[in-house]
Amino acid sequence: MPVQENSKRTISDVAYDENNIFAKILRKEAPCFAVYEDEMTLAFMDVMPQTQGHTLVIPKFPAENIFDLDPEYAAAMAKTVKKIAPAVKAAFDAPGILIAQLNGAAAGQTVFHIHTHIIPRSEGIDLKLHAREMADFDELKQHAERIKRALG
Ligand code: 5GP
Repeated sequence: MPVQENSKRTISDVAYDENNIFAKILRKEAPCFAVYEDEMTLAFMDVMPQTQGHTLVIPKFPAENIFDLDPEYAAAMAKTVKKIAPAVKAAFDAPGILIAQLNGAAAGQTVFHIHTHIIPRSEGIDLKLHAREMADFDELKQHAERIKRALG
């Protein structure tokens, strides 16, 4: 299983739900359009993008949010965001990139495996509603390819 064991806590300390969709993606029980993977993180297309190119970065660690996340995995997630954001910017010719990370339902979090959003922004192109409209899968596949090409 690619999700790393959380050896610093017992399961009773952690509210993490192993059946959340991103845990399933990490276990390859659910599909995703991946753009990058390393030992500690995975980056893939958001299936309900707020703009074209909306990409997510997740750590391979069973944490709901920033409060549960091992600092080494927080650093790994930040490092992957730093790597992917310029590729998304180039692939979508975006003058701006919005980076967001929501912690808790009150903050708008809807999937309870910590993740960072990388969202291309351009003047005159509004953000679509959060987690609302499913994208065309062929288009998502092409967008993932564009980002992978930009990563070189
Ligand atoms: P949150 O609201 O937790 O910050 O963001 C969760 C994100 O996950 C949303 O942007 C939503 O569109 C995305 N999402 C939800 N289900 C899936 C899924 O099955 N696959 C992918 N790739 N993204 C998903």
